[in-house]
Amino acid sequence: MQRCLRCGGEPFYYRKYSGEMLCRGCFVDSILEKTRRTISKYKMLKYGDKIGVAVSGGKDSLSLLHILANITKGHASEIVALIVDEGIEGYREEAVKHAVDEAKQLGVKYHILSFKEAYHITLDEAIKQRQDSDLASCTICGTLRRRALDLLAKDAGVDVLATAHNLDDVLQTFIMNLLSGSTERIVRSKLSEDSPPIFLVRRIKPLMEIPEDEVALFAYLRGIPFQRATCPYMNESIRSEVRSILNEMELKHPGIKFNLLRSYLTISSNLKTEAKNSICSICSAPSSNKVCAVCTILTRIKHEESANKIAK
Ligand code: SF4
Ligand code: ZN
Repeated sequence: MQRCLRCGGEPFYYRKYSGEMLCRGCFVDSILEKTRRTISKYKMLKYGDKIGVAVSGGKDSLSLLHILANITKGHASEIVALIVDEGIEGYREEAVKHAVDEAKQLGVKYHILSFKEAYHITLDEAIKQRQDSDLASCTICGTLRRRALDLLAKDAGVDVLATAHNLDDVLQTFIMNLLSGSTERIVRSKLSEDSPPIFLVRRIKPLMEIPEDEVALFAYLRGIPFQRATCPYMNESIRSEVRSILNEMELKHPGIKFNLLRSYLTISSNLKTEAKNSICSICSAPSSNKVCAVCTILTRIKHEESANKIAK
């Protein structure tokens, strides 16, 4: 029987794309190492950076918090957990609890901001009062959450905001942008520091080279409790189709996701589009249009009052 390639221990996980058999302990160590390598390869952190970690309460973000707390132990970098409560009754409360519990357990400070505090409207209310059926729940949620995270990060005085996007998330977004012809979004998502400043605080994705199933396995092995229920607004979007296609391809051709990641990195750093950097005429946030995505959404859900208030 094949043993763990690193320590000769009991085999637990076969990493098909690299041909490694690993025991439980070496698998966990490999995830910590991979994250450390990704951070250093893409120069994600500078010495002494204060890191804000966006924690939703799901397996990816709780694993990221756990990993960063572990690999920055004894270093100059301080970590804070940033938690956004969108206001989804019967669903979000549990996730927020997991996020707070894990932060406390790790001895990490945390800050919470709700949509109600930031925009004077919960996601439930926004969805109920939208009159435009083209406006998907996840578009409202994602756009408002990104800004809420920026506000939290600024408030907490962090230098950099770490999000838990894993390899699969990054690839799905890349393919979706290709399919919708949104080359500008591909440029905006690039890692280099010269990317257009659409966020108030610099973003990093330390898990971008770790497949989703390995992050889930890490959470399971470290005994991290996370929310398993799915959001009531989750819809079968094109993302699910892209996810299935990529998973099928990876099964037949192990390593193909990493090839696609290389293509994404090359394309995104070489693509040139007209940088339309300006500020939103309503809230003054960085925006590529006259009115930013947040104010556009708040206006479309007939909540102009909020759009004006977030400027204050
Ligand atoms: Fe928000 Fe959509 Fe995720 Fe639900 S599934 S939390 S609505 S982005
Ligand atoms: Zn705006």
